[in-house]
Amino acid sequence: MSIRVRFAPSPTGPLHIGGVRTALYNYLLAKKEGGTFILRIEDTDQTRLVPGAEDYIKESLEWLGLTPDEGPGYGGDYGPYRQSERKGLYAQYAQQMVADGNAYHAFDTPEELTKMREEQQALGHHSAKYDARIRMQMRNSLTLDKEESDKLIAAGEGIIRLKMPHDEDVSFVDLVREKVTFNTNQLDDKVILKKDGMPTYHLANIVDDHLMKITHVIRGEEWLSSTAHHVLMYRFMGWEAPHFTHLPLILKPTGKGKLSKRDGAKFGFAVFPMEWHDKKEDAVYQGFKEDGFDPKALLNFLVLLGWNPGNDEELMTVERMTELFSLAKIVKSGARFDVDKCNWFNQQYLMATPDADLLAPVKAVMPEGITTEDNYLQTVIGLMKERVYKYGDFYTEGSFFFSAPAEYDEKQVKKRYKSEQDEHFAAIRTMVTSSSESAEALANQVKAYLKEKELKMGVYLPLLRIMMCGALKGPDLFDIIITLGSEEVAQRYDKALEVFKKL
Ligand code: GLU
Repeated sequence: MSIRVRFAPSPTGPLHIGGVRTALYNYLLAKKEGGTFILRIEDTDQTRLVPGAEDYIKESLEWLGLTPDEGPGYGGDYGPYRQSERKGLYAQYAQQMVADGNAYHAFDTPEELTKMREEQQALGHHSAKYDARIRMQMRNSLTLDKEESDKLIAAGEGIIRLKMPHDEDVSFVDLVREKVTFNTNQLDDKVILKKDGMPTYHLANIVDDHLMKITHVIRGEEWLSSTAHHVLMYRFMGWEAPHFTHLPLILKPTGKGKLSKRDGAKFGFAVFPMEWHDKKEDAVYQGFKEDGFDPKALLNFLVLLGWNPGNDEELMTVERMTELFSLAKIVKSGARFDVDKCNWFNQQYLMATPDADLLAPVKAVMPEGITTEDNYLQTVIGLMKERVYKYGDFYTEGSFFFSAPAEYDEKQVKKRYKSEQDEHFAAIRTMVTSSSESAEALANQVKAYLKEKELKMGVYLPLLRIMMCGALKGPDLFDIIITLGSEEVAQRYDKALEVFKKL
């Protein structure tokens, strides 16, 4: 039997980085086993729909290269793949569960439900669930006489709830946690069909997983406790349940608590694959794409958050991940989102990418108004690539390649500069502004001069660097000088010396 997996996001907002990891694990299993990776949009709760979220999810998956084999807009024989387009399909299964005595109609008003909860809480039942203990005190098709209940159903009143068996252990095998058991006394009579005839997540999820012939469900840990309900529903319907795998949480950089969408702004990094404009909050959330990450590096970082290949291999192409991937190696404990590690991965990918291939992505994140010749930019990329993490860093860390320094590190200048040095600076100026065959030749020339005059390298070279870059930063000084070219070097030299004198 061929493996069929699905990534089933609800379009209630942008795709969180945890969702990306879920999609990735599904994708890897499908590719490894020659199976099918399906995108299903779980949009039954129309009140929580966010315009643009579905497109965002698809664009993100495509940017990452996790293109679905089947899904809305991708074709496939099991569509439609948007649950809102399958609305008419679900009620019959809820009704079948009612007919078989595994579900029932409930007519309680919101006020009655609130009252029940308050009464239960007053009695010390903290969770106050609508469950086997409570259901016979409520207004539903089990407690009302048949005539009254039928009348209400005919009038379109009520919802359908699952009827949890009394005191029964429901077990299932989670491929990460092995055997998981819930007692039905802990489980509530979940709503499966709403008043408007739309299914809830639970019903739509199992019906679609069944009809779409899903073999493996791989999803976040937060769904573990719902799985007992799902397993029971499969049993009620006489369907075979898929294999379940629940992925560990992704934790905050501090290691404490679940990574949330606000942590991005708090810790200064993206938690979304692409930038997201939240209209309701009138806020913009950072994206890895716009921050200048290589999607391959992001996937490499993510794959190791909750899984490892069993050896110390870290840098992996998607092909290699596919080869090594197995559900058995997913870990149970939460995985810390380590921003430094994420940057490190991107740096590794940057260093392994030819300079010419970095041109386009670096240009894409250049600030507006900065234009450079491709040749020049490519040289800068070559010089800077071992010192940066992200595409955007080429500009932010190497801004002196694009414009002359507007200010100079005063402290460092004061520590070293004396006007008696001017005679030597005049000599060095001639060297750095006449065309040199290479950075190395120029370095040798300048250093030979300093040696001959018994001058300190640690005084002159840093000052020369500050003239060019404004501060003690950047790649090899003589590479910078050669790249800037004699005209620009002359201008920066003169302007800097003028400022130095006044400091
Ligand atoms: N729609 C659910 C979500 O947003 C899907 C959970 C599942 O994969 O079953 O996460």
